Amino acid sequence: MATLRFNALKESLNRTPVKIQEDERRSDLFGSNVFNQKAMRQYLTKDSFEGLKSAIESGTKIDRSLAENISTGMKEWAISKGATHYTHWFQPLTGSTAEKHDAFFETIEDGGAMEKFSGSQLVQQEPDASSLPHGGIRNTFEARGYTAWDPSSPAFVWGPTLCIPTIFVSYTGEALDYKTPLLRSVSALDKAATDVAKYFDKKTNKVITTLGWEQEYFLVDSALASSRPDLMMSGRTLIGHSPAKGQQLDDHYFGSIPSRVLNYMRDLEKECMLLGIPVKTRHNEVAPNQFELAPIFEEVNLAVDHNSLLMDVMDKIAERHHFKVLFHEKPFQGVNGSGKHNNWSLATDTGANLLSPGKTPMKNMRFLTFFINTIKAFYENEEIIRATIASASNDHRLGANEAPPAVMSVFIGSQLTKVLDELEKVTDGKLSPQEKTELKLNVVGKIPEILLDNTDRNRTSPFAFTGNKFELRAVGSTANCADPMTVLNAIVTKQLKEFKIEVDSLISDNKMKKDDAIFNVLREYIKSSKKIRFEGDGYGEAWEKEAKKRGLSNFRTTPEALKAKISKKAIDLFGELNIMNEREVKARYEIEIEDYSKHIQIEGRVLGDIARNHIIPTAIKYQNVLIKNVKGLKEIYGSNFKDQAKQQISIIEAISEHIEKINEEVELMIEERKKANVLEDPTEKAFAYCNQVKPYFDDIRYHCDKLELLVDNEIWPMTKYRELLFTK
Ligand code: ADP
Ligand code: MG
Repeated sequence: MATLRFNALKESLNRTPVKIQEDERRSDLFGSNVFNQKAMRQYLTKDSFEGLKSAIESGTKIDRSLAENISTGMKEWAISKGATHYTHWFQPLTGSTAEKHDAFFETIEDGGAMEKFSGSQLVQQEPDASSLPHGGIRNTFEARGYTAWDPSSPAFVWGPTLCIPTIFVSYTGEALDYKTPLLRSVSALDKAATDVAKYFDKKTNKVITTLGWEQEYFLVDSALASSRPDLMMSGRTLIGHSPAKGQQLDDHYFGSIPSRVLNYMRDLEKECMLLGIPVKTRHNEVAPNQFELAPIFEEVNLAVDHNSLLMDVMDKIAERHHFKVLFHEKPFQGVNGSGKHNNWSLATDTGANLLSPGKTPMKNMRFLTFFINTIKAFYENEEIIRATIASASNDHRLGANEAPPAVMSVFIGSQLTKVLDELEKVTDGKLSPQEKTELKLNVVGKIPEILLDNTDRNRTSPFAFTGNKFELRAVGSTANCADPMTVLNAIVTKQLKEFKIEVDSLISDNKMKKDDAIFNVLREYIKSSKKIRFEGDGYGEAWEKEAKKRGLSNFRTTPEALKAKISKKAIDLFGELNIMNEREVKARYEIEIEDYSKHIQIEGRVLGDIARNHIIPTAIKYQNVLIKNVKGLKEIYGSNFKDQAKQQISIIEAISEHIEKINEEVELMIEERKKANVLEDPTEKAFAYCNQVKPYFDDIRYHCDKLELLVDNEIWPMTKYRELLFTK
């Protein structure tokens, strides 16, 4: 008996639903556990409140005495919310969040104790986090790493702990986390975008980046998930035959949410409300047991923190509901994987969305400027974008015939295509008054009404314009959004700076009017970035061929894709904009390339173990049953037994063949792993894992899955796809 599997099934079928009570309005709960302005007003002196507010809004420095006052107020507030501990909360390059809790509690001289939290404890810490990845930045002689408070993302109480969002940097000030480069990119883009936005509205003084992520995930009963070593160790199933029914009936997408799942979602949403994460949308996704959650968009730094926090909260709340959340991009073969669409836009302090067309030609000129510059930036740097979304797990989506392909392209819809086609015809040089009027009335002036009925959505595009924002769909569901957002910010910053220089020089050298100059530069950008625009089916083979002709990159695997991260172009880009220096860029590459090898190594080990220690012994057990049966038939029928036992014998033979193949392939895979492991160079090692080790996975799986179809269901040890995917 495959006891673990059947016990898990029994357990999963006997779940009693967790009761959810929602007595309070969500709007009343919202932000209750966040040290937001309301809490600050209540717990801080007027001066501290104003000081902190201005630090948040304009980045002014927080001095010692101010920090002291803030920490005291923050501590009192946190204790009132049930916190006993505090932690600097940060996002190291492991991909998850890091925390190290310290109690407020401290003993005092007279033998008593009190709760303390000083300004310096708030502002800076030196966690002994020497085991976190640093890609060589923290050599032993400068091993210290510091966390420093990021006041722009408010502190919050999560469980019994006050969490203070911080950056994580080395002794020499180099970034060891995701947040630091993101913040640098945000201020670089602010400067560049504000300069350009001033062409259209002099009152613009600040531009912020906005992000609305959409998190896809699978839910599997926790007992069933624990019965699968591959899910537990590598986050995805490494074997498992497709069930009779998958997603072909499309009956799950947007269907009614199973009640157990709904309870989980409501519980989760309530916690999100308390933590100030503005979650808004929930629905079933395409694959069975796949779901999605999306918030109202926010300033990018906060949105990234909220997504990282959410992933942690999702895990914890799931425990209460006996679910395991699968964030992996491809936990199951044969059904859709999960992504994390990053909806990205730019907003001004005057309240305008720079990627939203407006009511006047001037506003539309502004829209077109940012729209076309973004497309141009994407074109010029498509391979760096591809690199930023590369990971061992996302490789299963990109280029693996599933959303979206490994080729980067931009979708803008037929109506905006027409607008750009019209603009491409703009006269070279100064425009006549008549041309200008026509252009403004017939092309630029018409945009809002066109966009309203712009409903054609292309789900196969990795970067799609969706009315008032660009949607980067290629990001993986496990990813931290900070890296893709940093890159997108960086390339658009560089592009806008170049745009400004070109426009200004046309104005001063060629004595052009401002709008003539803008039209002229945009026209050239439309022409020169045309190759990145693609409106057709991104999954088709035809596109791959066409993309090749256009000279677009098509990196199907992470080791190939990551190279662009340390190209001279990338190093110059990040260096020029003070987002990352060469050491920081290279350190990240090293961490990611090593991470890739480690992932494949773990998968290889787990697969070897499952194949040899679970599947083969089970197959032999069943084969023995058949052999006994054949022997019995021989006893009854004597020499004629072969007619009676034909089927059994053929199954016995088939099982032997599969066992032999599995054994052979596992042996060869182990040999390749050994060879890969002795390679010193991390890049060479990653390529070896990718090209020499990984190809065995499919073969081994193939034979295991064939055995699943042959062996008695009662003794099959691995929980099957139908059980993992259809248990509600
Ligand atoms: P879908 O793309 O699934 O049709 P929506 O268009 O409603 O859904 O929005 C998806 C996500 O885009 C949401 O998280 C939403 O907050 C976000 N979003 C909407 N406007 C912006 C914006 N200006 N900047 C960034 N994200 C935005
Ligand atoms: Mg979307």
